[in-house]
Formats: sequence, structure tokens, C-alpha cells
Amino acid sequence: MAQQTRIVGTTVVVDADTVVTDAEIAFDAGSGRVTYLGPTRPGRVDSIDGRDRIVAPGLVNTHGHAAMSLLRGASDDADFPSWLAAVRGLEVGMTHADVRAGLALAMAEMIRSGTVGFCDMYLWDETLLGDVVSAGLRVNAATAIFGADAVGYPAATTETGADVLHRTAALAAAFRGERTVRVSYGPHAFYTAGDELIAKVARRSSRDGLDVHIHLSETRAEVRASVADTGRSPIGRAVDAGLTDGRLLVAHAVHPVGDDVGLLARAGVTVAHNPVSNLKLGAGIAPLAEYLSGGVRVGLGTDSAASNNSLDLFEELKLAALLPRGTTLDPAAVSGATSWRMATAGGAAALHPELSGRLAVGEPADLVMVGTDRAAGVPLGDPVALLAFATTGAAVTDLFVAGRGLLRAGRLTTLDEAAVRADAAHRVDRLRATSHPERDDRRS
Ligand SMILES: [Zn+2]
Repeated sequence: MAQQTRIVGTTVVVDADTVVTDAEIAFDAGSGRVTYLGPTRPGRVDSIDGRDRIVAPGLVNTHGHAAMSLLRGASDDADFPSWLAAVRGLEVGMTHADVRAGLALAMAEMIRSGTVGFCDMYLWDETLLGDVVSAGLRVNAATAIFGADAVGYPAATTETGADVLHRTAALAAAFRGERTVRVSYGPHAFYTAGDELIAKVARRSSRDGLDVHIHLSETRAEVRASVADTGRSPIGRAVDAGLTDGRLLVAHAVHPVGDDVGLLARAGVTVAHNPVSNLKLGAGIAPLAEYLSGGVRVGLGTDSAASNNSLDLFEELKLAALLPRGTTLDPAAVSGATSWRMATAGGAAALHPELSGRLAVGEPADLVMVGTDRAAGVPLGDPVALLAFATTGAAVTDLFVAGRGLLRAGRLTTLDEAAVRADAAHRVDRLRATSHPERDDRRS
């Protein structure tokens, strides 16, 4: 029998524009969907008390490299080449078991801070996707491809980019019946994978009906080199290669040039906006207001813990609304509600075409409960503004994905958090003791 859950007497954020107070929301883990949303019904004894809580759609992390949580703090204040050398020096020593441990650590952090799903580019296979299914989060997973002959994760697997290209369709087929998993192609970037391989990815993704996730126009140097070498921006090359014929997720897009904004809008591309990572690595500030007014779809991402160092999307949510005010001197440039919409609906659409990122009867029960019984929760005022400007992941008390509770009253239910932390810490000690910093231009 499907397990029914009811949260009563609560405030429900349906979406960025609609809030219902004194409400009940009910859902079941069988269908994974919301079955009731309306006034609290009397006589329910088996319900969760939702007073002092806001129930809201869960956040979606549209760009990251979860397993790199093991590299948190590897390089915090250095220039980009030094950061890359420090990170890559550790990463080349990461075994498959290390990747699993880093993924588990990231999932624990994401669940705790209100994230219900994530779009990821790293090493992905049946075992790792199985770990996500067990943990209960939604994922759109792309194995990074750095070049046809390049081995991305040498201590974890011997496979090359060409091998990844060949196996991706089979991996997607193996998880086709799993409603929380979607598999994508992940060419890392033009400056690593090259035009020829990316054109192959475009043909295969069209053939297989799979999404593509890529880094484009992250740094000014990347864009200048692209224009100097090919006469086209990285975004223009993505269109030329056919990547925009299907569903494309572009990470960063900090430095659009020419008609790049129009290209992204017309092609229906989702940009993963990563304001913290872009600032921390000195990449710059993406022109978010220009994207939004130009009709570009936008989701929010943390990027990896190696360049953030947190996976708490509430930080991105607040910063995404504030940064454009600083660059345009217009406090109305991006509202808190708009930022909330990017973190929920914007990300959900990138995660899976059938997700709306809103709460309504028939929609997936992907939701968080945020405590308002804290000093910063008083006065409550506009719940969406509270979520956008006065909430951190630490205020999240409960989290459900497809109706399944992954965090209940502050406790993780699908991961042994103490064991995950201890395992990760032990592995980081070993990695740091054996690391060999090297210069490598393959990662951003
Ligand atoms: Zn990235």
C-alpha cells in the first residue's frame, strides 16, 4: 500500500506567484505525486504539523560535479591555473570508491539544504546512478568527455572519451524505467573536447533523444581564444555543431558576445547560472538581467564544492537576485521571486522535461519544509521573499522527493550521515598525502 503523507496547518508556496496559507498538502510515495492541496481537512490524526513551516517546491541544482565535494577547500584564494593544478592533482588520484564517497557526501549536503535534484557532469555509471536512486534524489547525469583519447578519471576507470560516447546510450537505456534518473551527454567544453567530437555528440544526442550538458563561455580568456581561433564564440560554435537541435544545458555563460543571448533564447537553451563559483574563481558576473529580458531560460547551480565551497543553493538564490542590482544600479533588476523561480521551475525543466517545479495536485511531490520558528523567520511577511533573502539550507527541516521522505525532522533517512562524513574525511586525508599537483588545462 502506498504510504500517504499529509502536512497540515501550513503555508504552501505553490510557485513564485502563489502562496496558500492555513493549508494541507497530501501526497503518496506510490504515485510520487501530490494528491491534495487546499484548506486543512478536519479529523486527520496521522498528519505532520506544518505550523511554523513553509512547504515549498524543492530546489534544483542545475550545474555541479558532486563527487568533487572531496576537493572542497583544495584551493581557496589562488588564480585559475593554480586552482586547476591543485584540484587536478588530487582528482587524478580519485578511485571509483572515492568518487562514490564524494557523491554520497554531496548528496547528504544537498538533501540537508533543500535540493531535490541535480544536473551533474562527472564520472557516471550503473553503480553511481544506483547510489543516487538509493539516496532518493533526482539526477540528470552526464559523464564528462574531455576528448576522444582523454582518460578523465584515470584512478577510477581506464575509459576514454570515445568509450564514454559509445556507452552513454546503453546507460540511459538501463535507467529508462527509473523516473528519477535521466542520462545525458557531457562534452566538457570546446577547448577540451574539440569541434569534431562535439559534432559527434550532437548527432548521437539527436539520435538517442538525450540531453547535452556543457561548459561554455566561462572565462573571458576562453571566449577570446575561441573567437581568435575559429571566428566564433563558444555559444555560436554550439549552435553550429547542432548541440541546440536537442535539449542543451549550458553551464556558466558568463561572457556572451555578439548575438549569443539571442542564440540561447531562440534555441531554448537553459543556462546554469553559478554566481558563487563565478565570483570565487574570478571568472566574472554573468549578465543575468540581460538573459532574463532576452527570454533565455535560467536555472541556478553551485558548480562543484572545489569552487564554491558549499552546495547550499539558498546562497545562489540570494546572490542571483542581488548581483544584477549591483551591476545595473537597479534594485528591481531581478526580484526575489524571479530568483526563486530560477532555483525551482528553471532548474526542474533542465532536470527533466516533465517537471514543473511547482506544487499542485498531480505534480510530483518534490518539496521542502523550511522552519519559520527562528529569529530570522519573524515576521513571516512574504514567504517567497523570506525564502529568497532570509533563509539558508540550515533552516530546512524535511525534504521529500516523489513523495519519499529523505530528510525527516532534521534526520537523513536514506544515508548514514556520520558514516558518510567519516568515510569522506578518511579518503581526503589519503588523497592529500599522495597528491601530485600538475598543470592541466582540461578542467573548469
Ligand atoms: Zn562545472
